[in-house]
Amino acid sequence: MSAKDLLYPSTEEQSRVHKKKSLIPHTKSYFNRVKCENCQNIQIIYSHATTTIKCFKCGIVLTRKTGGKCELINCLVHKDKLR
Ligand SMILES: [Zn+2]
Repeated sequence: MSAKDLLYPSTEEQSRVHKKKSLIPHTKSYFNRVKCENCQNIQIIYSHATTTIKCFKCGIVLTRKTGGKCELINCLVHKDKLR
């Protein structure tokens, strides 16, 4: 074993570890309590919903799919804390 091996950990090893880490991202998902702008109905929406969510009262579309988390449309985030 040479001194070089001790001083510098293999870059291959490091990138492998890094890749492995990135495969398991920290899920920052949460639930939003939103208020429908159309009918004022309040409902809870998952921040990373992968499907379009509609207001269950009036049927208006509340989320739009983007690359990652869903974008809220036609509704406002209700600031009350979830209990
Ligand atoms: Zn509504």
